[in-house]
Amino acid sequence: MGKIQCFLVEETGNSAIFLRRYASGSVCSGKMGFHNASVQIDQQPTKFDSEGYLETVTPPPKDDPRWPTRCECGYEFTAQDEWQCYQDELFISKNPEINNWSGTCRQMPPGAMAYISRYQTWPFYYPGDDGKVLMVMTPGGEWVIDSRANNGPKDARGWTRSGTPPLVTANPSILIGDRYHGWLRNGWLEEC
Ligand SMILES: [Zn+2]
Repeated sequence: MGKIQCFLVEETGNSAIFLRRYASGSVCSGKMGFHNASVQIDQQPTKFDSEGYLETVTPPPKDDPRWPTRCECGYEFTAQDEWQCYQDELFISKNPEINNWSGTCRQMPPGAMAYISRYQTWPFYYPGDDGKVLMVMTPGGEWVIDSRANNGPKDARGWTRSGTPPLVTANPSILIGDRYHGWLRNGWLEEC
């Protein structure tokens, strides 16, 4: 099965600001399954709220021309559809000579591995021996190694972590819904 080599990316301290329209409960032939469109309008230093979450961004007025008007399928958003403005943290490769990538958390390709500083104070996240919380983007989505497991004890870390990122080994295996099942061994995601 597939093997993906992990590479380290790090927080830049900046976040991209996106304007998003979506229609909850709708059905769309696009990859989200519902009508959805977002566009990056800006970037700025990442702002956290008092609890360590990404701060809610005040959206521009609804008549701002930068709001997306249509889904990729051609559907035209109505005034009743959702309006959202959000920050997405920007990351950049730590070793660009090995893997040159930059983008937001949600844009990370499988194999991207990062310390996420805001997770260090969140409930159900358990910093490793290095005092930080490490995540890896898998083909099935984000996996935070230093967190509880959905199928494990509520108040304990779900995996052991050893090695220096990106050469990390974790146990036991990773199961993300029915989207991904694999192992992280010495910096390689190995699908089961
Ligand atoms: Zn659509």
